[in-house]
Amino acid sequence: MVPMKLHTQILFAIVLGIFVGFLLGPSASMFQVFGDLFIRLLRMMVIPLVFSSIVVGVCNLGSVKNLGHLGARTFSYYIVTTLVATFIGLLAVNIMQPGKGTDQNLLMSSAPVQVTQDSLALADIAMEIVPENIFVALTEDNVLGVIFFSLLFGCGLISLSGKGGRLTEVIENLNDLMLKLTNWIMLIAPIGVFSLMASIVGKTGLTAFKPLVLYMSTVLVGLVAHLGLVLLVIVFIWGKYSPAVFLKRMFPAIATAFSTNSSVVTLPVTMESLEKNMGVSKRVVSFVAPLGATINMDGTALYEVVAAVFIAQLYGVDLSFSQQLVICVASMLASIGAAGIPSAGLVTLVIVLKSVNLPLEGVGLLLAVDRVLDMCRTTINVLGDASGSLVIARLEGERFS
Ligand code: ASP
Repeated sequence: MVPMKLHTQILFAIVLGIFVGFLLGPSASMFQVFGDLFIRLLRMMVIPLVFSSIVVGVCNLGSVKNLGHLGARTFSYYIVTTLVATFIGLLAVNIMQPGKGTDQNLLMSSAPVQVTQDSLALADIAMEIVPENIFVALTEDNVLGVIFFSLLFGCGLISLSGKGGRLTEVIENLNDLMLKLTNWIMLIAPIGVFSLMASIVGKTGLTAFKPLVLYMSTVLVGLVAHLGLVLLVIVFIWGKYSPAVFLKRMFPAIATAFSTNSSVVTLPVTMESLEKNMGVSKRVVSFVAPLGATINMDGTALYEVVAAVFIAQLYGVDLSFSQQLVICVASMLASIGAAGIPSAGLVTLVIVLKSVNLPLEGVGLLLAVDRVLDMCRTTINVLGDASGSLVIARLEGERFS
């Protein structure tokens, strides 16, 4: 159980960071180095943690059949909740019409955008999932590739029936060790979170927000609605958990996601909070959470729908109902394809815009405020993974409170 003191310290660090950022402006970037070090420490944990926890998780499942069962439940949960998120985004952007209330002069000032990723070929994703060389996948932080290898590795160990026992034990120890180290890193989370907040606020300031206030509000209203009306309701009904207690126990992960903008960097904290604070079994967490951090992004999908329709409104493009549905499906796929790293959602937005031929220059308009929206959508992404782990654990018959 994370001591309450740490929760309070992190909360204090967020508030103080925002205050100092406003006070110092761009010179608050002197704190950046501490924030970056915090991110690097967490990143350092990700690959060994993902590998060891998935292998241990699969071994605990006992059979490949059980793995298939858990996998099917996890995928279904992730796809359905992400689709719901896109519909909420669609509703929010149609009701609030941010593009109609935004100053059209903005179009003139749009920064040219470098489009780096312009296709979501399924073949590309498949190639990433199946690494050619596991050591390259490990060193290049190819999380999907490492998940695939670890699943195979775990299945192989189970089928060695008994002979793999010693190796399983070693990997179990490695997993415990990684969680212990994560625990230590979290002791300096208040410093990391403070530094990240101060430098972000100092760099961004308030001026960048003004022309895009309505657009930002639409994304935020959508994210809050998805949290309150979908995720927390699911937590309450199917997770049999009080939403307030859920948010409190997941707070270290919420604060880390909010300040680092990365589901993958947050993964060690998400797993620690789920296991230690919430009581979800390692068996479920070790499979559902790493998969979620890479493919389940409710916040990103919702954001992409709002952003795409906002761009259409701004450029005066009338979208038919079926085009809007195409945007929902494209956003869901783009969010699955987005890596759990900062600004990944902005990059894969290009795919969504292309799906209905919207002007790609629109992405340039959104750059100035992307950092702040990324903080919020990453938080929702991580909470989506946490609610998924909770619900799947209940479906698997786990009892905890
Ligand atoms: N930063 C997000 C995440 O890591 C992805 C995005 O840019 O939307 O979950």
